[in-house]
Amino acid sequence: MTLEQLLKEISRINSRLDEIEQRLDEMQFHRVILDESRVVEGEGMLGGRTYLTGQTGEIQKLIRVPVCDSCGQIGRYEFICHHCEKKLCRDCTIIYENTTHCLDCLRRYHIDLSKKAWKVLKCIVNGVTIVSTISRLTKMLREEVITSMAELQRLGFIVKDGWIIKRYRITEDGLVAMNLYDRIYGSDPDSYDFLMELKDYAP
Ligand SMILES: [Zn+2]
Ligand SMILES: [Zn+2]
Repeated sequence: MTLEQLLKEISRINSRLDEIEQRLDEMQFHRVILDESRVVEGEGMLGGRTYLTGQTGEIQKLIRVPVCDSCGQIGRYEFICHHCEKKLCRDCTIIYENTTHCLDCLRRYHIDLSKKAWKVLKCIVNGVTIVSTISRLTKMLREEVITSMAELQRLGFIVKDGWIIKRYRITEDGLVAMNLYDRIYGSDPDSYDFLMELKDYAP
């Protein structure tokens, strides 16, 4: 290699080193110093943020976003179930005896009404008490209607009374249960059809 070639090679290496240095400078410039991410907050927790340091010294910021513990809607929780402390949005909050409940706790600690029993209760409150008619309106089997009526009687939501002809009627507790569960079952598509048929039959 001649001196001229050697100088040329040195100059080539130098410019390459400059390039690398510049690249390193740029990398340093673009080094992550704060990494922010959002995660879903755990059940019963109201949200918050956590700061951690990463391997290269950057700060990791975790924002824990609260969601309704029942339906999962983001950032719309407004109430806390007074039994299990789940946070709830307005749609998922059930007020019973002036306290807030999630559906699970309403069922577990207070009133557990099946959809079938609710439909039968809707019939009875509208004066429809004959098993075959209830069966037709609710599209439930006769046996299911009879079982639901027994369940409602056991829960004290309906009673059989009258002088000569004994008929079922709804009790005060039954009305409370029905109103609570109107909100829970009332907007289901099959409930809509049923309520329309009931309205036609017993306006
Ligand atoms: Zn909700
Ligand atoms: Zn609860």
